[in-house]
Amino acid sequence: MTIYLNGAFMPIEEARISVLDRGFIFGDGVYEVIPVYSRRPFRLAEHLQRLQHSLDGIKLKNPHSEREWTAILSELIERNAQDGRNQDQYLYLHITRGVAKRDHAFPNPPVPPTVFLLSNPLTTPPAELLQSGIACITVADNRWLRCDIKAIALLPNVLLRQAAVEAGCAEAILIRDDAFLTEGAASNIFVVKNGKLLAPPKDNLMLPGITYDVILELAAANGIPYEVRRVTKAEVLGADELLLTSSTKEVLPITQLDGKPVGNGKPGAMFAKLHPLYQTFKREVMRK
Ligand code: PMP
Repeated sequence: MTIYLNGAFMPIEEARISVLDRGFIFGDGVYEVIPVYSRRPFRLAEHLQRLQHSLDGIKLKNPHSEREWTAILSELIERNAQDGRNQDQYLYLHITRGVAKRDHAFPNPPVPPTVFLLSNPLTTPPAELLQSGIACITVADNRWLRCDIKAIALLPNVLLRQAAVEAGCAEAILIRDDAFLTEGAASNIFVVKNGKLLAPPKDNLMLPGITYDVILELAAANGIPYEVRRVTKAEVLGADELLLTSSTKEVLPITQLDGKPVGNGKPGAMFAKLHPLYQTFKREVMRK
């Protein structure tokens, strides 16, 4: 596996980072995950825009132009996709505030950021999972108030996901203030009620998902009724269907919540509409 670190491509075994890196010490950095289909990054412009938003959020200068990012990502994809294998990948892109003496305040003058990129094979959910759906639990969203920043400091998300795993579930659905839905520990969540898709607004309390946007665009283009607004806890618990989205999971039906069936406990009509639309969209984008 070839990775990219601070200007050079190398085998992952050779990569070295200082113990004083602010990513290691403080979790002072941001990241992106970009799916690659047939060796082409999906929604690259949108991912790079979100990266810029995250960097702005932590006051870190973007080390590369869009053109430079594109070149680095292309080379990483090619180096990891030899012999016609590994055409679908997911790229992990990670930038920290660099290496400096341990002090909370930013290094002054600034030091070079650490830029790390990794490629892994992308495996999308198997057919069995699409048929059975996944089980989730609801948990209190106890994260900070800048969940729109894709920060590498993921301890709250790690603990929330672990709570789900310990309950035998795939994901935790996060409820803020015991009142309304924000997102999943590592995904966005949609509620379906009476044939309508309900989506929480992209504010400071959730990550603006790239897949979330694709789903809403597909709904708009295909006459599927939807509403973007606060979604209450009661609406989550009383949903006809619940859907999970993320770059690596695409769109998944949630068929069990807190040990009870969601709707009739089977993937519903909205999932049956949206999943093929997403697959077609993906293929069409990649053919262009
Ligand atoms: N929310 C959180 C907290 C996430 O970590 C992710 C991505 N894993 C998402 C939402 C989904 O975002 P995307 O569709 O861009 O993968």
